[in-house]
Amino acid sequence: MSAATLIGCDRPLQEEYDVALLDLDGVVYRGADGVPHAASAIDQARAAGLRSMFVTNNAARSPQTVARHLTDLGIPTGPEEVTTAAQAAAALVASEADEDTRVLAIGGDGLREALLDLGLTVVDTAADAPTVVVQGFAPTLGWPDLAEAVYAIGAGATHIASNVDATLPTERGMAPGNGSLVAAVVHATGVQPRSTGKPQPEIFQQAASRAGGRHPIVVGDRLNTDLAGARAACYPGLHVLTGVDGMAEVLKARPEYRPSYLAADLRGLAQAHPEPRAEDDVWVCGQARASVRDGTVVFDRPDGPVSLGVTPISIDEFRAAAAAAWAASDAAGVATVLSDVPALTLTAD
Ligand SMILES: [Mg+2]
Repeated sequence: MSAATLIGCDRPLQEEYDVALLDLDGVVYRGADGVPHAASAIDQARAAGLRSMFVTNNAARSPQTVARHLTDLGIPTGPEEVTTAAQAAAALVASEADEDTRVLAIGGDGLREALLDLGLTVVDTAADAPTVVVQGFAPTLGWPDLAEAVYAIGAGATHIASNVDATLPTERGMAPGNGSLVAAVVHATGVQPRSTGKPQPEIFQQAASRAGGRHPIVVGDRLNTDLAGARAACYPGLHVLTGVDGMAEVLKARPEYRPSYLAADLRGLAQAHPEPRAEDDVWVCGQARASVRDGTVVFDRPDGPVSLGVTPISIDEFRAAAAAAWAASDAAGVATVLSDVPALTLTAD
């Protein structure tokens, strides 16, 4: 297998690919508010022929609710353009179901609807002898719900989690996500669940198939879910800097988390992406030249070398730096050769 690194695209991504599998939080919106440029970039991408399929690990909200929120933000969206982790979990249950399958749904309305939509029998308590427990996040979940899950799993039901994200971003900061509530159940049962949300590849494969896409591109802001899921599904992943993981996290990313493309925000869909190439130990991307020296990245500029963090860098310098840092880390056989990465900013363009 070739090294996990950036690739190039000599025309705009929105012309090269046929469907974008877009994460929501940190890519399209942050809480209730739209991310700057997201609505216009998606509008332009659609006009250029790139379909959009929104893919979210949030299992609490139904596709209809998500679609309404997007439409309110100026991104007209139908429920058929939304794939949730609840739908991915329901699809897994349905693929293994027989006439005796009874599902205990621990989660929100979105999870229950996704199971019912696939014709599954949903029960309310462990006393109904469920064969499967499907657990997704809802802000109203409490001890009685987790107790039902533990009773059912103790009696032999299998355990499926819509996702295992430890945290959930809220307006007030990071809150416990589904993975933290799943961990409480696992602590009690000792049984590890299967998970269907990102970074598992199935949710992306289902989303691409629902959209009728043959050349999908994943777009996300979180390396350990969106971009790891893209690598697992063997789809290229565009990482944008409008959400959780910033430039420093990208430069230190391990192979299975690395994006294929980098952009400041969704306007990167309308751009061609030059491929970083190695010239001896210097990585060249467009006009940018970067190499790793003494645990940091140094850029060769016309007026002399500049170390990482001294001045804002261009997007091509960021791409060259990522390729250089990753190659040096792989060659050294370590997670990252970089020592503390300073705060980084991109030049305005
Ligand atoms: Mg996100």
